[in-house]
Amino acid sequence: MIKVHQLKKEYPMGDSCVKALNGVSFSIARNEFVAIMGPSGSGKSTLMNIIGCLDKPTSGSYSLNEQAVAELDDDALSAVRNKEIGFVFQSFHLLPRLSALQNVLLPLRFSASPVQDTDYAHELLKRVGLDTRHDHRPNQLSGGQRQRVAIARSLVNRPAILLADEPTGALDSKTSVEIMALFTELHKAGQTIILVTHEEEVAAYAQRIIRMRDGDIVEIEERGENAA
Ligand code: ADP
Ligand code: ADP
Repeated sequence: MIKVHQLKKEYPMGDSCVKALNGVSFSIARNEFVAIMGPSGSGKSTLMNIIGCLDKPTSGSYSLNEQAVAELDDDALSAVRNKEIGFVFQSFHLLPRLSALQNVLLPLRFSASPVQDTDYAHELLKRVGLDTRHDHRPNQLSGGQRQRVAIARSLVNRPAILLADEPTGALDSKTSVEIMALFTELHKAGQTIILVTHEEEVAAYAQRIIRMRDGDIVEIEERGENAA
């Protein structure tokens, strides 16, 4: 499903540049649950931004569903970003004036079938355990509940891949465990998940851990089926 080969990323910096990725290669199959770990500055966000089609590598190749991403024009790229990838962030990124349900529906604002979409958004809120809170605004919800809304929103376009960047970074440890249980459930239901974290306890939920340092992959650890 995902194949990256010799990915390099350099950010221009005055007369020189910062090397964020030095040539990383790996593949991720459908329905895998992978964690990317590494200290701050090791290139995790840069890699996620490339996988999420938010940024392009300086060199190397990336193919998503057998399609070379470098060959896509801007329209095709934003279509891939909207339809194939669901994003979950550390800080939730919910719109404060919208209800939970409206936040979940947000990625579908150009959709052709609003009625069905509302039903599906309700179904997703139910799946994340929040159906009774569909009218609540983010400030009426706890951090864990906000992240559940964000996860429901990330799934509304039925994305092939869920990309989660430090999804438990703003949560206490008990709530983190609940959110990781939810990711595990989604994975068991067939969702492909790639998650960035710097917490070992969080990475332990994944089947495979890609460990990075200074722009290189230093280890790929196979853990088997949901070891945590
Ligand atoms: P991580 O997510 O693991 O903390 P990043 O991918 O954010 O790592 O950063 C990798 C390296 O690239 C760091 O040295 C960082 O300072 C640098 N970097 C990241 N984004 C930019 C940018 N937009 N401009 C310049 N340097 C950047
Ligand atoms: P933080 O770690 O500060 O909470 P996030 O993990 O929330 O940051 O965001 C990571 C990156 O994703 C940011 O650089 C941000 O610009 C980008 N981003 C935020 N919201 C979206 C979005 N809805 N779609 C695409 N990219 C986003």
